[in-house]
Amino acid sequence: MKKRLVVVGGGVAGVTAAIEARKLDKDVKITVLDRESRMHYSHCGLPFVLSGVVDSFDRLILFDEGFYRRLDLNVILNAEVCSVDTEAKRVCYLEGGKSCCVEYTSLILATGSLPCKPKVEGIDNPNVFYAKTMDDFKKLNEVVSKGKSCVVLGAGLIGLEIAAALRQRGLEVSVLECAESVLCGMFDKDVSQVVEHHLAGSGIKFLLGASLKEVRGIGRLCAVTSREKIECDFIVVAAGVKPNTVLAESMGLKVEDGVVVDERMMSSIEGVFACGDCVQCVHCVHGGSVLSQLATAALREAKVAGANAVGVKKRFTSVSNAVVSELAGLSVGSVGLTEANAAKNRITHVSGKYSGLDSVEYWPERGRITVKLVANTNGVLIGGQVVGAGADGVVNLLCLAIRKKASLEELSSMETCYTPPLSPVVNPLSMAAEIALKKLALKSGKK
Ligand SMILES: Cc1cc2nc3c(=O)[nH]c(=O)nc-3n(C[C@H](O)[C@H](O)[C@H](O)COP(=O)(O)OP(=O)(O)OC[C@H]3O[C@@H](n4cnc5c(N)ncnc54)[C@H](O)[C@@H]3O)c2cc1C
Repeated sequence: MKKRLVVVGGGVAGVTAAIEARKLDKDVKITVLDRESRMHYSHCGLPFVLSGVVDSFDRLILFDEGFYRRLDLNVILNAEVCSVDTEAKRVCYLEGGKSCCVEYTSLILATGSLPCKPKVEGIDNPNVFYAKTMDDFKKLNEVVSKGKSCVVLGAGLIGLEIAAALRQRGLEVSVLECAESVLCGMFDKDVSQVVEHHLAGSGIKFLLGASLKEVRGIGRLCAVTSREKIECDFIVVAAGVKPNTVLAESMGLKVEDGVVVDERMMSSIEGVFACGDCVQCVHCVHGGSVLSQLATAALREAKVAGANAVGVKKRFTSVSNAVVSELAGLSVGSVGLTEANAAKNRITHVSGKYSGLDSVEYWPERGRITVKLVANTNGVLIGGQVVGAGADGVVNLLCLAIRKKASLEELSSMETCYTPPLSPVVNPLSMAAEIALKKLALKSGKK
């Protein structure tokens, strides 16, 4: 049979894998199946349409039909894949109620993730919304124009992006989070407090260390939490996502937290690859398996899956989970391990935190920047957290530094650039490294 690649899922992972396969093999027949009704779009941009910064949902659709046609990618929308026969190498799907099948020589699963749904009474209320797909955000966008107050469930990055967007639209916003701090996966509590104070300053209310117990009401809602009752017009659930492994499991693939893949992104069944939010990957610091659930990781994994699926050898090693965002005008980012994560992975560590001006004292529009570094007790960098202007650049630099196993010594003495409008003379990153070095010296008994 002629080489035939079938990709299940037309999100960033599926589409990137298909494009990579086409770049490397001009002859392979490529079919991409997705159950959604529109071409691949940017999930990451959805909160910014909600805030009004991006003027329409259509702007998030990344490529038009002509793009796929030119690459000879057969994209089939409204196609729900129901089963895969790995013996016969056949994918069966429902397209508009009609059963169809397509055969493959290699298969890529890029089925993404599903939103976590709290198991509480009343959660199926029509005024409870989710924040995963464009359709979810379109529904949310409609209710925003009618409502005055809302509760956002979850203070992770997506929850806070939504909270900031809804506040920008003039709503009263309460964020409910069961952890004791916001962004607890990204930041230690001392850094997350900087973000919390900033968002509280913009008018967002926080109820931390409390969980949702029940949703009551018809029309106007009452969110019953473990601490208090909050009246609101609607609730947005942004309580995390879990890998969508439904199809993988039905096919008998090895699944732990996500689909298990090797360095080729090949699953436990020969010729079946997986990439994106549905897989688990290796963390570059501790070597354990983690869920990345970031578009950047999905993209890198997909290029490897797409190449190997057409016989070109490529390897995907690990993730450092570099993440960045802008929340009500504040840039935030992190990479690698926080102190809490390091402790959880039994890595003895030190940290250094610098908080100060992001430019020189005399610059009129100066702001503040916080940089926190985490290193193991050999002085090797294992994580970084940044709040303030230029967080994306600092995180990117730290990404490479972690991969290269840079030492605190190297970071404290590295050559940096400077100009008054953009930076202080001594780089905040070097300052944080110097502080961590001092703690390390104390810990090891040196002066
Ligand atoms: C609101 C929001 C903001 C985000 N912001 C950022 C950000 O700023 N930076 C960042 O790095 N990441 C961000 N992310 C995460 C990022 O969007 C995801 O990591 C990325 O979309 C994962 O891509 P994927 O292709 O694996 O999965 P998805 O994009 O979820 O695509 C999976 C596709 O598979 C299809 N599918 C699943 N099962 C089937 C089936 N049985 N049959 C047919 N089709 C199927 C689904 O319809 C879906 O289209 C954000 C996510 C959201 C929701």
